Amino acid sequence: LPPDDFRAAAHAAVDWIADYLEHATQLPVKSRVQPGAIRAALPTSAPTKGEPLEAMLRDFRDTIMPGITHWNHPGFFAYFANSASYPGILGELLAAGINANGMLWVTSPAVTELEQVSLDWLRQLMGLGDGWFGQITDTASVSTFYALAAAREQAGLDVRMQGMAGRADMPRLRVYCSEHAHSSIDKAVIALGLGHENLVKVPADENFRMRPDALESAIQADIAAGFRPIAVVPCVGTTSMTSVDPVRAVVRIARAHGCWVHVDAAYGGVTAIVPEMRHLMDGTDDADSFVVNPHKWLFTPMDCSVMYTKHPEALKRAFALLPEYLITSTQDETVNLMDYGIQLGRRFRSLKLWMVMRAYGAEGIAERIRFHCDLARDFAGMVHFESGGWELTAPVTMSLVCFRYAPSGLSEADIARANAAIMERVNADGRAYLSHTKLNGKYTLRLAIGNIRTDRSHVETAWAELRSAAAAI
Ligand code: PLP
Repeated sequence: LPPDDFRAAAHAAVDWIADYLEHATQLPVKSRVQPGAIRAALPTSAPTKGEPLEAMLRDFRDTIMPGITHWNHPGFFAYFANSASYPGILGELLAAGINANGMLWVTSPAVTELEQVSLDWLRQLMGLGDGWFGQITDTASVSTFYALAAAREQAGLDVRMQGMAGRADMPRLRVYCSEHAHSSIDKAVIALGLGHENLVKVPADENFRMRPDALESAIQADIAAGFRPIAVVPCVGTTSMTSVDPVRAVVRIARAHGCWVHVDAAYGGVTAIVPEMRHLMDGTDDADSFVVNPHKWLFTPMDCSVMYTKHPEALKRAFALLPEYLITSTQDETVNLMDYGIQLGRRFRSLKLWMVMRAYGAEGIAERIRFHCDLARDFAGMVHFESGGWELTAPVTMSLVCFRYAPSGLSEADIARANAAIMERVNADGRAYLSHTKLNGKYTLRLAIGNIRTDRSHVETAWAELRSAAAAI
């Protein structure tokens, strides 16, 4: 491929991206294709001879794009909305151009060092103390897996060498999280071979926060029954309703029983960048590890999760290996990120995060997060004051609103059906996209605000759509 062809196609691609982001609202947020349609529209095998870049860009536009649900659309309110900011996209683009692999310090010193610098910046932005070691992973699911692997290592049972199966000296290990914790905790427990039944779901209070007294009782009962508690995973910003577990109380209980505390702040952690919201992360500085996802609410393109721990040596004990072909002359004086997890090869993810933090600064980031929370409160106000059966179903702690249409006289099953129908109608219209959950058995709609381009008008449009859908069903 001649370099000039690449230059021309790349310029065209960047122009396309800029137009796309500027006019995203003209596209339906949620893809309308039927299952299998994209696959059916594509050739079943790779071409024998190379094709020109323009042909690929054309097919990307005409065939692939209809199968895209637009997370960059300001009307994206499903799951946890996220977005790629301009500086984040630039960082991703440049990283692809360089194609550096930071598996060892020496294989690209800047990859390792910028990762450490940017994660130290992020730690400071969140108002956390010294002593945290950070590494970037692809997702919170992997970050939590690493944290629990380190917790198991820290328990001193030599699982690395001896494994867990068939050992008479191996107690059953237990991990605790709230009944509202994300399924990534379950997956980590399963993948580590701890056994899903050894993840104890601690009951929550009426505001969906893990109950410390219930945690204490569960741990004590387990110890009495011969189990060995090894870790507790409180959450700051639960997936269904962004409730905040009492991390400080959890840490106190966990410490008394020798447990590692890993805080799942995948979504909610960035609220600590907003001075008046920092209290939501209270207690995290005393934990052993936590995860926060810049690819959720820090305007950084997928994927970028950060796992911080005070005990990087436990990660090393769990994962470090040094075959001959990876020995380097600088290994004793440098951090080699391959030592802290499963992956060897490492993308240059910190570049985009660094560019986001530089472009917006602490104040710019805080301002946007604060604005999203203001929008969420305003939307909650609209729901609350609307006569005719709308209700809030959880407190608004961050930028997520849980609500539903529940006119009096309808059974719970009818309310669930009505809200599913409302959501389907709104999502089919194309201007907004919402998702749902169940709170204590109640079917609930979720409006999650987190896109950097979301404005008041997009939230108002969603609300108008919701009301007209309710009127129509
Ligand atoms: N933890 C929480 C609280 C989440 O809400 C999510 C996803 O939404 C995750 C963990 C998993 O995130 P990831 O997709 O990065 O694995």
